[in-house]
Amino acid sequence: EKKELQNLKGKPSITKDGYKVEIVGNIGTPNDIEGLIKNDTEGVGLYRTEFIYMDRDTLPTEEEQFEAYKKVLQAMNPKPVVIRTLDIGGDKEVSYLNIDKEMNPFLGYRAIRLCLDKAEIFKVQLRALLRASIYGNLKIMFPMISSLEELLEAKKILEEAKRELDNEGVKYASNIEVGMMIEVPSAAIISDILAKEVDFFSIGTNDLIQYTTAVDRMNQKIRHLYNPFNPAVIRLIKMVIDNGHKEGIWVGMCGEMAGDKRMIPILLGLGLDEFSMSPISILPARKLIRSLNSKEMKKLSDEILKMNTAEEIEKFIENYFK
Ligand code: PEP
Ligand code: MG
Repeated sequence: EKKELQNLKGKPSITKDGYKVEIVGNIGTPNDIEGLIKNDTEGVGLYRTEFIYMDRDTLPTEEEQFEAYKKVLQAMNPKPVVIRTLDIGGDKEVSYLNIDKEMNPFLGYRAIRLCLDKAEIFKVQLRALLRASIYGNLKIMFPMISSLEELLEAKKILEEAKRELDNEGVKYASNIEVGMMIEVPSAAIISDILAKEVDFFSIGTNDLIQYTTAVDRMNQKIRHLYNPFNPAVIRLIKMVIDNGHKEGIWVGMCGEMAGDKRMIPILLGLGLDEFSMSPISILPARKLIRSLNSKEMKKLSDEILKMNTAEEIEKFIENYFK
């Protein structure tokens, strides 16, 4: 079994009928790339940069951030690295920002909302990202976008950061893709509109499931209600992939669902282009993809889209792969 996985290193993530996808990894710090490289990743699909801001007393400087991003980009070059801009708030606290306690932090002042409100903090990160971009294949991703206005505002601040660097004569890559996470239902619902403004989508199912079903992802008591097989979630995912493809952009997924072997066949059938997961899931996912036929999975996902409950879908998948 282990040997078999090792033998998959260097092989493409391609279905039996020649449909190629990308299997990439999620990281939280530059040190995590070691584990990704060991598992023959095709890139980084999510670098959660908030950890640079946590467990300390002051904001990280532009220089500190530049070094971290550069390290990851260089180690992965020329493979793609999707770096997500700051996503604090929710369950991730940063004490020195003195953010008021909120009744519903997951519905509150977090991620892009905070960054647009504190543009001076956001811009430091964007400048560091731009400066690091010449060391590899950077893609910038905004978290928690819930409207077109937010996306346009974030892009505007990115352009401002570029103008600043231009004026200072500082170089950055000219071909940086800019994308956004789809993790809020309102973004999924207007994904046809948003797709016109970005180069890619990455579906954040950890939050998308939580917000779509109104089930707190941290609450053990209602754990049974937090279900990736929920037909509402699967419909939203289909909608996002279709809307992205209509505008000619690629659609990935960086929530836990992307590495779930019961979900991968469905996601493949729905047309997902990129699967981003924890390092240890990469080779098993590649093995699974290489055992599947994409046309069969398209039929399977069409069947699943007709089903009424999560339980029905889950049972169907279990039996299908028995
Ligand atoms: C997600 O919401 O699916 C996601 C990948 O982001 P995080 O888990 O960091 O909120
Ligand atoms: Mg999220």
